[in-house]
Amino acid sequence: MMGEFKAPKGTKDILPDDSPRWDRFFNAVETVYKNYGYGRIDTPIFEAESLFARGIGDGTDIVNKEMYAFTDKGGRKIALRPEETAGVVRAFLEHDLGRNNPLFKAYYKGPMFRYERPQGGRQRQFWQVGVEALGSADPALDAEVIDCALESLSAAGLEDLKLHINSVGCPICRPGYTTVLRGYILTEPDRFCPTCLERAEKNPMRVFDCKNPGCAAALQAAPLITAHLCAACADHFSAVLAALQVIGVAAEPDPRLVRGLDYYTKTAFEIKSGALGAQDAVAAGGRYDGLVEQFGGVSTPGIGFAVGVERVLLATEAAGRPAAGPDVYVATLGAEARQAGLAAAKGLRRTGFAVAVDFSDKSLKKQLSYADKAGAGFTLIVGDEELQTGAYVIKNMRTGEQAALDPESLEPWLTSQKQEGA
Ligand code: ATP
Ligand code: MG
Repeated sequence: MMGEFKAPKGTKDILPDDSPRWDRFFNAVETVYKNYGYGRIDTPIFEAESLFARGIGDGTDIVNKEMYAFTDKGGRKIALRPEETAGVVRAFLEHDLGRNNPLFKAYYKGPMFRYERPQGGRQRQFWQVGVEALGSADPALDAEVIDCALESLSAAGLEDLKLHINSVGCPICRPGYTTVLRGYILTEPDRFCPTCLERAEKNPMRVFDCKNPGCAAALQAAPLITAHLCAACADHFSAVLAALQVIGVAAEPDPRLVRGLDYYTKTAFEIKSGALGAQDAVAAGGRYDGLVEQFGGVSTPGIGFAVGVERVLLATEAAGRPAAGPDVYVATLGAEARQAGLAAAKGLRRTGFAVAVDFSDKSLKKQLSYADKAGAGFTLIVGDEELQTGAYVIKNMRTGEQAALDPESLEPWLTSQKQEGA
């Protein structure tokens, strides 16, 4: 059955059959985030467009090409959030969450929006979960945050994970490096694609993200940031690596790792899954020590990461379990029996049972087959005879055994069956 409409390009429905996997994912990762001391924050799905331009950066692809921005009926420039760090930092300042709090820690989950070319693991509306910690510049915190990301992904069932890590420097050392890198690119401009030449002007480090084999070859001998870090950034990076080693987290330093958001300083990282193809980054994050100040707050260091939920679920696809069916399916025969069935269902639901009522008006045989298909534990049968005798038939769908019970005995009987593990 096809109607006239389809979900917009780059979006996907999460259907009732899929949602148990999503719920299990959220349960697993949220338990980890809470264990690491993060409390949930929910911010609006849209914010002032300028928040993202200021935070993520005017010269980035996310802001220039990928943002869903519009003017609302009141003339305000609004954008759907492409990521959550800017929103959390905005809320941190708005509610003065750093007051009497040496380290503000929050986790989030929700949809993000980017106008990108949709492909496997890349959508226009996609979900992220992530954490933000604001208030400490300690490299040990970087290690703890990275560890938290990895632990949450393991808890979600991912196995073959690799941590790539780099330092992208700070406003003291990065400009010197980008000048050197720009110089390198512009010495032999014919070896680079037009996009990379454009990047060389605006945001030279992004050339390392180019998928063009020619550009990659031309970058083989490019100067790397490692040799250009200032002493503070170099020390911070070694301290992060040392702390990771102490807590037993394997890291692969990658001097070509860059991020698409301008706010990153010092530590930048990406976690890749061996179970995925081209879009193999399941999480990414880093430090953003200048962001709070950029939003007009008192200089406050911060660090966080975001996990791409669709990619994690793609990587764990094989391990999916089917949705659990209702405890009880209520088969009814006739209008009066339907009402009695509704009353019985309401009582059972109030005592904690999941109950589905049949509204098909089909034969009992057919209704029993629906119950079977739904994966029901029991089917309650209510027909004329049951109404007259006041004894409802309840059938164990696994063993086929039946019992006749008056409506008041249903709940205690089902509870005892549940305790026996029926
Ligand atoms: P990529 O290099 O894959 O485009 P990114 O650097 O743009 O990722 P971040 O902004 O750091 O990604 O977001 C963190 C994570 O969110 C990514 O590692 C990925 O798992 C997920 N993600 C980002 N963009 C999308 C998208 N359009 N669709 C699905 N997941 C996404
Ligand atoms: Mg991207």
